[in-house]
Amino acid sequence: MEGKAPYDAAAWPRRITIPTMPPQPSKEADMTFPPGFHGIHAAPLTTTYERIRWVVPVPRTDRIRVRSHTCICREIQFELCEAGGLAFIRRLAPLRGRDVVHETEWTVTTRAVRLWESLLRGQAR
Ligand SMILES: [Zn+2]
Repeated sequence: MEGKAPYDAAAWPRRITIPTMPPQPSKEADMTFPPGFHGIHAAPLTTTYERIRWVVPVPRTDRIRVRSHTCICREIQFELCEAGGLAFIRRLAPLRGRDVVHETEWTVTTRAVRLWESLLRGQAR
């Protein structure tokens, strides 16, 4: 490409595309999605939850596998990702019409999966 923009977080690999999913997530998605088309929904936060340290992603590899992800009907989406023998969680949150991407530290898979499960239970965010 042109020799500008060393890194654009919005251009970072975002999410796997599932062809059967409706292409336009919306606030009314809970009502407009056909039954059975929803993905995982993270539970509401518990009163005492672990605060995840989210950092701006640094490109390390062009091969990232999204192992699991939360439903696209929600405003903020999370992805459990694997790359280079490590794993991490990616957070995609809309800001002024774009998705802002943050991620956790890259760590051993078992630790990342434990954090992912806590996040889904509302015990970490
Ligand atoms: Zn959903």
